[in-house]
Amino acid sequence: MAKRILVAGGSGFLGSHLCEALLEQGNEVICVDNLYTGSKSNIYHLLDDHRFEFIRHDVTFPLYIECDEIYNLACPASPVHYQRDPVQTVKTCVHGAINLLGLAKRLKAKILQASTSEVYGDPAIHPQVEEYWGNVNPIGVRSCYDEGKRCAETLFSCYNMQCNLATKIVRIFNTYGPRMQPDDGRVVSNFIMQALHDRDITIFGDGKQTRSFCFVSDLIRGLIRMMATGPECTGPVNLGNPGEFTMLELAELVIELTNSNSKIIFCPLPQDDPKQRRPDISKAEELLNWRPTIPLREGLQKTIEFFASNCK
Ligand code: NAD
Ligand code: UDP
Repeated sequence: MAKRILVAGGSGFLGSHLCEALLEQGNEVICVDNLYTGSKSNIYHLLDDHRFEFIRHDVTFPLYIECDEIYNLACPASPVHYQRDPVQTVKTCVHGAINLLGLAKRLKAKILQASTSEVYGDPAIHPQVEEYWGNVNPIGVRSCYDEGKRCAETLFSCYNMQCNLATKIVRIFNTYGPRMQPDDGRVVSNFIMQALHDRDITIFGDGKQTRSFCFVSDLIRGLIRMMATGPECTGPVNLGNPGEFTMLELAELVIELTNSNSKIIFCPLPQDDPKQRRPDISKAEELLNWRPTIPLREGLQKTIEFFASNCK
């Protein structure tokens, strides 16, 4: 049956793909976003659909609307963006979660939190399982995001225990694809833009640090499957692609796929940059029957096509 679904952060990279997928399933979608890092251009194509509504609103302030389900994706996600105004990042994570959880409580609505692999910090356990509590610096440059997201997880579990609210937490590992912002500083968008313009490819550190990259369509399928679970399935559940690559491997692959003349250069490693990341996705496989299907090479090709035709 069609539902009315609120997507907070709906005009961002992941949010816009989620709004699209939910509309395709026949739902009504209310996209709430303050356009801090999102863009109207991500949702222009949805504005003519009478089942889609955009509300410009900052989730750090209360919101009064009616809906059946809530996805909370509102938060800047790239280190460059979330470090620009760290106080606002914490407020968005914490006050945003409190406001949306309060809304869910009044409506008895299911609510899903887009958490992150950053809750594991610089992990001492590899690959990362949900039971691992993480290794996070509480006062470093990444802490506004990492600790903000950890506190949001705490709030979700408190509302579940105390108010019996149907809460769900997914921990998203690095996700990429069309509609990433060209200048958001994330590694995939940086390398593709640099390669397309034959500029130097900037590897931070020695390039041996690893990440696992999930294509956006795989991730969105996982979010929707998680929301469809019963109230007993609260998570946290890791969502990501277990394929693990060094940044050097990523740079070489991007150069090959773009046929670029770019050279690789090495730049200083940012503070507290995690050395390795790979999700253990056994829980997602078992509880959601979910696994990613798009390998890095194929996902990068689609992403490069998007950047080549949209970001001159
Ligand atoms: P994004 O920056 O493109 O999207 C975030 C959206 O939230 C933007 O549209 C932004 O304008 C909006 N927003 C920010 N602060 C807000 C506020 N106070 N009120 C209302 N809206 C606000 O980033 P994304 O990659 O689409 O990430 C979406 C969510 O997924 C984030 O919560 C992020 O932490 C999480 N996540 C993403 C990744 C990834 O690799 N993309 C990985 C882990 C977690
Ligand atoms: N990185 C890099 N060059 C860049 C941008 C990022 O080598 O131009 C590295 C960064 O230091 C990190 C990895 O790529 O080790 C992933 O960075 P990103 O900001 O995309 O995500 P996160 O660190 O949050 O996983």
